[in-house]
Amino acid sequence: MRSALSRAGSRTDGEIMREIRVLDEATINKIAAGEVVERPVSVVKELVENAIDAGARNISVEIKGGGIDYIRVTDNGSGIEKSSIPSAFLRHATSKINSIEDLLDVTSLGFRGEALSSIAAVSQVELMTKTKESIFGYRYCINGGREMSFDEAGVPDGTTVIVRNLFYNTPARRKFLKSALTEGNGVTQLMEKLILSHPDISFKYIANSVIKLTSTGAGDILSGIYTVFGRDIARSLVEASSDSEMCSIGGYIGKPEISRGNRNYELFFVNGRCIKSRIVTAAVEEAFAPFLMQHRFPFVILYLTIPSELIDVNVHPAKTEIRFMDEKQIYSAIAGAVSEALTRRELIPDAIAEEIKPVRNDIKASVSPVPEPFEVSRIENVKITGHESHELPRAYEKKADAPDVIADKIAENPEQLTFGEGFFAEGSEKLHRIIGQVFDTYWIIEYEGKMYMVDQHAAHEKVLYERFSAQIAEGGVTSQLISPPYIVTLSVSQEEAVRANLETFSELGFTIEHFGGKEYALSSVPSELFRMTPEDYFISVVDDLAENSKTASPKQVKDRIATMACKAAVKGNMPMKYAEADALIRELFTLDNPYNCPHGRPTVIAFSKQDIEKMFKRIV
Ligand code: ADP
Ligand code: MG
Repeated sequence: MRSALSRAGSRTDGEIMREIRVLDEATINKIAAGEVVERPVSVVKELVENAIDAGARNISVEIKGGGIDYIRVTDNGSGIEKSSIPSAFLRHATSKINSIEDLLDVTSLGFRGEALSSIAAVSQVELMTKTKESIFGYRYCINGGREMSFDEAGVPDGTTVIVRNLFYNTPARRKFLKSALTEGNGVTQLMEKLILSHPDISFKYIANSVIKLTSTGAGDILSGIYTVFGRDIARSLVEASSDSEMCSIGGYIGKPEISRGNRNYELFFVNGRCIKSRIVTAAVEEAFAPFLMQHRFPFVILYLTIPSELIDVNVHPAKTEIRFMDEKQIYSAIAGAVSEALTRRELIPDAIAEEIKPVRNDIKASVSPVPEPFEVSRIENVKITGHESHELPRAYEKKADAPDVIADKIAENPEQLTFGEGFFAEGSEKLHRIIGQVFDTYWIIEYEGKMYMVDQHAAHEKVLYERFSAQIAEGGVTSQLISPPYIVTLSVSQEEAVRANLETFSELGFTIEHFGGKEYALSSVPSELFRMTPEDYFISVVDDLAENSKTASPKQVKDRIATMACKAAVKGNMPMKYAEADALIRELFTLDNPYNCPHGRPTVIAFSKQDIEKMFKRIV
């Protein structure tokens, strides 16, 4: 048996003593590659950002095998001078900054000088490039960071980078890749974001020889949205905009009817970069809260333009997180712009959703105005067979027609993407023709070629809620005496909740007095709630507070009670007089948001004459 001492001193045991060695350049690059290059989508992102930085107006991206086997990015940008080609593949080689000071004022997308070296370290790269000034173009091949060839080549102006066999020399990394299908979907999502973030660049995206996405680059955001999300969504948007000294905000928000089950459709771009930001998300969601049901999320695409000294983009290596110098101002600017857009427009959902048109992959539509290098001959080989459904996420099956087909359609029918004067437009109530009530619940109103149905219960809830909230906000809650007082018996925790919030209750118009033992007398209540029995609101609010009494602020208590006001609303299945309905609809007119009840359900829906004619097959 060897002693512990001899073990510690033995070099052959190796598990304790390790030599410190300086890693060679190739190894350093392979390690660094892990930061920049995680999967095919990160390679595409870096290559496209380089193309954008090079001033390209046309960028085409092609992948095979989810991008694991093959990625090609072709641009018509500046190209790279012969002398700079090999050095572009050196780590920290960048033409975009010289020193740390420059980092503070970066307007280009990539500036770390790591992408090409990292990509080349873990794949087989072929670069073709030519500047306008140079007579010759060049082809440069580099495998696993090792230069293979560097020759003159007849290539058009601009740059093409082809990346083959990603992670072929780092099997451990390759193991972490998901299926080609999943990796490919990641690239597709990136391409959608790129189209949305750069409406002035024409993109083409080809996966497994099928053209999946094309954008015109005509600079119009709405047509980008149309390309990516299809007609149903493009039709249900309202424009948002605001300008302040600090930032300008533009974009589109979805009417509440196209709300989503998750946050995937909340897209924010800051100075052309798709970013994530807690502040921006919270501001948008707060503005949307009165319009959406719980657990629903808005569809929103916002573009912020803000001086680069007011943001910090280098928080995250992938540069998707961003920090604002003045978060409060950003928050209120965004929340303001979104609420303004939501309350300004006609938000009544159409009862009959438009039929979903089949996908069209029109070759005519997909050829961009400037012929793309390396593609002219390839184009014949590209199958235009429509979509391959096994390769597409479900949402794609709804994809709209190609962009120039859309342009034609908009020209035919310019109102397609605009919003007319609404049901709630000022003075329109005089033109409403109230037809009558059906099912003891819904009122039918004809107005300007549409038939509207108002849900009397939802509408009344909304009116009561708003009335009561306004009273609370102005401190002018009117209360109503109850005689004899209503006696409630409270449990210990209910009693604590009542005592802790006594002041708030009294501000809200409640008079509560201890009556002896566990009993309390309720001698006045807010008049808006008068028609209800106290069990309906008082006890349920108290119970709610009993569970969360420590955390509830006076504002939360007030919100809860205002929500209770809904319960005082006329129910569905109750006859209502014509005059009452008329008064109710008129009161809806006075609200900032007449479109949704406090729980987010619509108060009004619309049927166009066309919808009805379609149902009768008068038109197809
Ligand atoms: P970074 O973009 O951070 O500067 P990269 O490794 O991505 O670093 O690129 C290195 C350099 O190669 C860039 O600074 C740029 O000068 C040049 N380059 C890369 N791609 C292109 C392209 N598509 N067109 C023109 N120049 C390019
Ligand atoms: Mg770069």
